[in-house]
Amino acid sequence: MRTSPFEPGFFQDDLASLGVTSWGSVRPGDIPLSPEIRKICEDNTCRSYGTTWACPPAVGTFEECRDIIRSYSGALVFSTVCPLEDSFDFEGMARGHREFKKVCDRVGEKLEKPFLLLSNEGCIRCRECTYPEAPCRFPEKLYPSLEGFGVLVGELASMAGVKYRNPGAVTYFGMICWD
Ligand code: SF4
Repeated sequence: MRTSPFEPGFFQDDLASLGVTSWGSVRPGDIPLSPEIRKICEDNTCRSYGTTWACPPAVGTFEECRDIIRSYSGALVFSTVCPLEDSFDFEGMARGHREFKKVCDRVGEKLEKPFLLLSNEGCIRCRECTYPEAPCRFPEKLYPSLEGFGVLVGELASMAGVKYRNPGAVTYFGMICWD
């Protein structure tokens, strides 16, 4: 098991074998964050707001999320690219999201704590989330929403040198922060 994604070989070998398409590093202090993203969460167009422990308001305030991200010393942005039949291939998008979450699990299993793994959109691990009545069933595998932490994902991808849009495909993003 490797402690840091910066150890020799991890970039070249492990991430690709785990299903990651592309990746790049950023400094946690540079990660673009905005409280405006949290307002989009509150508008609930994704219908995830207040439904799991991985999304606002359960993840804490914008300021708390910002401080958590800034407390780490390194960060790695990664993506998975899943082909679609066309731009109305909603089943393909859902399938891609499920595959992406499996990739996040495989990445998380490779890392030693402490680390923070954020992933696009909410948590889909359980058929019914315990939120808000009981604690998360799998806190060690809780990889909260990148957007829910107030991250400007498009800008983050650009900063990391990871392609944000891929024609004919849906692209999902994750980010690992570690010490
Ligand atoms: S792992 Fe299960 S209980 Fe925890 S946030 Fe996800 S869906 Fe909810």
